[in-house]
Amino acid sequence: MSETIFTKIINKEIPADILFEDDQVLAFKDINPQAPIHFLVIPKKPIATTNEIAPEDDAVVGYMHRVAAKLCADLGVAEQGFRTVMNCNPDGGQTVYHIHLHVLAGKPLGWPPY
Ligand code: AMP
Repeated sequence: MSETIFTKIINKEIPADILFEDDQVLAFKDINPQAPIHFLVIPKKPIATTNEIAPEDDAVVGYMHRVAAKLCADLGVAEQGFRTVMNCNPDGGQTVYHIHLHVLAGKPLGWPPY
């Protein structure tokens, strides 16, 4: 898999507004927020799309959701609610080919999202 901008963020080659980091995941604010709260949770392992998630990745993908919920709790929006989205490939709106969980909150979000 070719390197993406998110690998550069993981490697601290470019800056990001980091909310959480450990050995498995990184969470940082989206540079172009679509809601009052909009951050991304990514695995440190580069996985290109949802289609490439392998059985051995199940744990980290679940953990990404748990980190999202914990950060929403810390930000005080867990009870009011939030949305997690993982876009896949062109029709899904994916532009960065390193999986990332969008986490949006801070206002009532419309549905459907188009
Ligand atoms: P997607 O279109 O689902 O692939 O989402 C990619 C997201 O990454 C978009 O919401 C972008 O605003 C965000 N993004 C791209 N570059 C950066 C960056 N350097 N720092 C933070 N977010 C970024």
